[in-house]
Amino acid sequence: VTLDYACYACGRTASPPAARCVCGEPLWIDSDATDFDWPVDGPESMWRYRDVLPVDPPAGMGSVVGGTPLVRTAPLDDFAGARIHVKYEGTNPTGSFKDRGSAIGVVAAVESDANAVGTVSHGNMAMSVAATAASCATPCVVLVPADIPPERLDAIAAFDPTIVQVEGSYGDLYFDSYDVGRDLGIRFLNSDTPLRVEGQKTTAYEVCEAFAPGAPDAAVLPVSSGGHASGVWKALRELVAAGRLDALPRLYLAQSAACDPVAAAFRDGDDEVSATEAGETIAYSIANADPPSGTRALTAARETDGGVCAVTDDEIRAARDRLARDAGLRVEAASATSLAATRRLTDRGAIAADEDVVVVATGSGYGEAGAASPHRTTLADLRATLSELV
Ligand SMILES: [Zn+2]
Repeated sequence: VTLDYACYACGRTASPPAARCVCGEPLWIDSDATDFDWPVDGPESMWRYRDVLPVDPPAGMGSVVGGTPLVRTAPLDDFAGARIHVKYEGTNPTGSFKDRGSAIGVVAAVESDANAVGTVSHGNMAMSVAATAASCATPCVVLVPADIPPERLDAIAAFDPTIVQVEGSYGDLYFDSYDVGRDLGIRFLNSDTPLRVEGQKTTAYEVCEAFAPGAPDAAVLPVSSGGHASGVWKALRELVAAGRLDALPRLYLAQSAACDPVAAAFRDGDDEVSATEAGETIAYSIANADPPSGTRALTAARETDGGVCAVTDDEIRAARDRLARDAGLRVEAASATSLAATRRLTDRGAIAADEDVVVVATGSGYGEAGAASPHRTTLADLRATLSELV
């Protein structure tokens, strides 16, 4: 696949395999969506937007990614302070939004002369790339930090990629993997590569089509590397250019207060996101202290009149519990930051009670340990126990 890249910040164009613009900002694919219209038929997957995607769908698992439910969850309105709709990405094949970007990236790698695909991840993205590569019979390399917990290693290993634990700076590994990959013919699909951003823009296409010809007032999503936020913003820009969106939804980004470089830049009025220290948080999968597309995500929030919000672990736990107990949706802690942030935003008046807000839940929580404390009884006492409890 030969594609031109463009820079959102300075407008320069570049050709692959450039990873960054000369101005330092990340690139995305220079796509023309001006003729786009909502499909009248087509698959109920991300591939219904084939006209604005850079590759054809693969066979197998990658062909069924996307088409995730948008659930109107009225029981969450009181907690959140607005009309809540949850975009639940947990129904993707490996349980997270990452499958969208992996599908595009792996297909592009298969069509090129790459020897293998690769990624730098210790969680959802590693599973997603490994699973997609397996379904395309493509070799896969996963680089993980040396201190990865064994249960997450097992989840990735199920798809049988080549896993390498790397000692050293995890932030530098993101950049070094591109250099090494170029020399060895391994196409690295890291968090915000242009191909991945193309896949991730389909989240927003799906949400906007569900509201068409209107639009939600706001969307709230977790931000880590900034790749997903970039994809959502790119989709909104494309839909405006195509005349399919009259009003831009305000884009709000959510982070854990323990690691909030994008939120800090927003609070301080900075033009650029600076690296911070990563503190401990239950939302570990979005704890990116030096996000490669952080400034682009910050710009997306500002240009759509949205914002960036940091929430504490207690707020994240409360939001995660409400999603499960009031809406039947089990999400990972990182995903619950979006509902927690919505509550903060309505508290401070940034979002009004009668506004339609799409809360993006980026991944299922079935892989995360809980702290259940069931009642106990014996078979003989079952009747008596239940009659007291129910
Ligand atoms: Zn640039």
